[in-house]
Amino acid sequence: MTERRKAIIAGAGVGGLTAGIALQRAGWQVKIFEAAPMLRTGGTGLSIMANAMAALNSIGADGPVEQAGQVIRKFYFKKPGGKLISRIPINEIGEQLGHPNISIQRPLLLRALAQQLAPDTLVTSMRCSGYTNHANGVTVSFEDGSTHEADLLIGADGFNSVIRRQMLGDTPIRHPGYIAWLAVTPFSHPVMTEGYVAHYWGRGKRFGVCSVGNGHVYWWGTCNQKNASPDDYSVSKQDVLDAYAGWAPEVCAAIEATPEDIIFKIHARDRQPVEQFCDGHVALLGDAAHPMLTSLGQGAAQSIEDAVILAERLATTPDLRTALEEYQAYRHPRANEMVNSARFMSGIEQVESGIACWLRDWYIRLTPKNNMRKKNLNILSFNSTMGKK
Ligand SMILES: Cc1cc2nc3c(=O)[nH]c(=O)nc-3n(C[C@H](O)[C@H](O)[C@H](O)COP(=O)(O)OP(=O)(O)OC[C@H]3O[C@@H](n4cnc5c(N)ncnc54)[C@H](O)[C@@H]3O)c2cc1C
Repeated sequence: MTERRKAIIAGAGVGGLTAGIALQRAGWQVKIFEAAPMLRTGGTGLSIMANAMAALNSIGADGPVEQAGQVIRKFYFKKPGGKLISRIPINEIGEQLGHPNISIQRPLLLRALAQQLAPDTLVTSMRCSGYTNHANGVTVSFEDGSTHEADLLIGADGFNSVIRRQMLGDTPIRHPGYIAWLAVTPFSHPVMTEGYVAHYWGRGKRFGVCSVGNGHVYWWGTCNQKNASPDDYSVSKQDVLDAYAGWAPEVCAAIEATPEDIIFKIHARDRQPVEQFCDGHVALLGDAAHPMLTSLGQGAAQSIEDAVILAERLATTPDLRTALEEYQAYRHPRANEMVNSARFMSGIEQVESGIACWLRDWYIRLTPKNNMRKKNLNILSFNSTMGKK
């Protein structure tokens, strides 16, 4: 009997967990080493769009995710006061693609993925510090001084990946100059029917509300702050209320309903796309490979696509280095297109001048539904290397 190939995954975020499931289902021995003492229990919400659900479906892992989340039924762009700008036919697109778009609380997503791993796959409080490639494998080093051998190391260690830094050197962070406040809280409002998502577009500010199921809302509000210190994560609920004063009643009510201590602040950031995701027996995926702004809601989705495609290539191409090259060649054009499109979109969304906002809203309002559907279909379609899913 041939010995099963062994993979080490650094990072138990969305990408690392999905890679673990995909590789185990393809017959690999997998250990996932996570720096934190447990899977994230905090954090806010996110959307897992139809392309990611299709990728999860291709490895039989979508069921628990759909169960833990809320299918998005309506998706609106609105003016700050609540007047409709446009609607994305999100349900129709989901039906056409055969996979739903989901809103979900991040800890529930991580749990829905982790529960699909074989027992004892996940090792916590183990921070990876580097790797050494050999002719037939890789030695992975950890901060506690231990080392582990594997055929493959997957760097799924997120935005500040140490594996990326070793592979590519320092690649500067880009700050587009805005912050976002975020929270998930129990909340109900007559406007917020099941599966409701709306983005309210103001001048240099946006607010999003997403029903994530179980009577909870995930909300986020962006605000241009060119001079914000990237190390300042302090939150004042009064600042948030002031930023959106006079906006739609559901926006103000969602902030009012949220205790200050569960509101997070982040600084929008990404990095210039690169075309190298691999080095010998090491592959990067997710934010370690292509960190992007949140405007398309595709960061986690692309990490899921990476994980599934990587496992596909490894299952199909016997030589590991060739399989990794195929993974890189297949994934970098699409993932990097998302990085660039998210950055472009975010520039439009965060415009500040009255005339630019008027043009933006006018353009979106007059874009025919069919064009809107086509644009979204490209983003929301998952193309497996094994044939279209
Ligand atoms: C505010 C916000 C909203 C977003 N909304 C969406 C959305 O709606 N839809 C969407 O698809 N995407 C969204 N994203 C993007 C998405 O969150 C990321 O793209 C996604 O989490 C990337 O997954 P990952 O597994 O690559 O990295 P992460 O989720 O960051 O996971 C990395 C893991 O690695 C661990 N780690 C770090 N260093 C080490 C180390 N040295 N050794 C071992 N472990 C390590 C970390 O603790 C973490 O658990 C959003 C992001 C933000 C910030």
